[in-house]
Amino acid sequence: MMGVIQQLREQAKKLLEEKKVDLVIGFGQGTELARTTPVFIDSPEGVSALTWGPFCANNLAKYLIDYKNAPGNVAVVVKGCDSRSVIRLLDDNQISRDKVVIIGVPCAGQLEWQKVAAEVKPGAGLKETADNGESFSVKTDAGDYSFNKKDYMLHRCLVCENPNPVISDITVGKELPVKNYEERFAEVSELEQMSTEEKSAYWDKQFSRCLRCYACRNVCSVCTCQVCVFDQMLPMWVSKRTNLSENTVFHITRAFHVAGRCVDCGECDRVCPMDIPLRKLNQLSPLGEFKPEDPEEFM
Ligand code: SF4
Ligand code: SF4
Ligand code: SF4
Repeated sequence: MMGVIQQLREQAKKLLEEKKVDLVIGFGQGTELARTTPVFIDSPEGVSALTWGPFCANNLAKYLIDYKNAPGNVAVVVKGCDSRSVIRLLDDNQISRDKVVIIGVPCAGQLEWQKVAAEVKPGAGLKETADNGESFSVKTDAGDYSFNKKDYMLHRCLVCENPNPVISDITVGKELPVKNYEERFAEVSELEQMSTEEKSAYWDKQFSRCLRCYACRNVCSVCTCQVCVFDQMLPMWVSKRTNLSENTVFHITRAFHVAGRCVDCGECDRVCPMDIPLRKLNQLSPLGEFKPEDPEEFM
């Protein structure tokens, strides 16, 4: 991945030196080997903080909203899934196209940091990563590792149909082959086979574990309301109590709010501390299509 990192830094430096942008939002090495952190670079000297590899799971697109009214332009580093979020933000008039420079990086998948951290020697420093097709190799100052994609990658990456960004001004790295996955919505189809009572019991079990930390909402590039209904106090739409009934209201309301707009970036699912499978809830658009055979009589 060193070639891509170098190219990223060069492109970011050029944009800042030529004053085409005032800020570059990208990935930087985190405090742990298997994690990256967002970095906000405002000078050419700062570009050495940029990195790239299989630990760049975060979707940085949502940060663009913070700069929509700030003077100057912003560049953002995006993967294929993140690029769909940029389109969402543009379509929703959350950002202006001429204010953003999109640096797209073809992505061969992202590893689940928790699984990698469990294998790597604590305190090891990252030296290099490489994509070997079926696996990623990770070189550290405490030894070298190989992580099979099938077992260590995020689920959303195993069925990813946009490894290349769908929108970009600058592309860094080589375009990757695109695959289609029939099983992409397999879990949703499985849910659809259940009876109403079974579905209700399934989601009751999931929602009862929700902490209402709102991480899923905060990370979502579709949830861009200045004041979310769940933070509104007058009137208070949902109480602060975490119980099944209030949690269900939160999830059903949010599902309706993102219906037909969710880009299936998988971030809500990834950040949930309780492993609630939110992609199953938001993936398909309940209000996005009309079918003459719809069972609802009023339709
Ligand atoms: S991130 Fe998970 S625990 Fe937090 S509000 Fe969302 S579903 Fe609930
Ligand atoms: S609902 Fe989840 S998967 Fe859909 S856009 Fe928001 S964060 Fe991404
Ligand atoms: S949950 Fe609804 S009200 Fe809250 S930020 Fe998302 S879209 Fe807006």
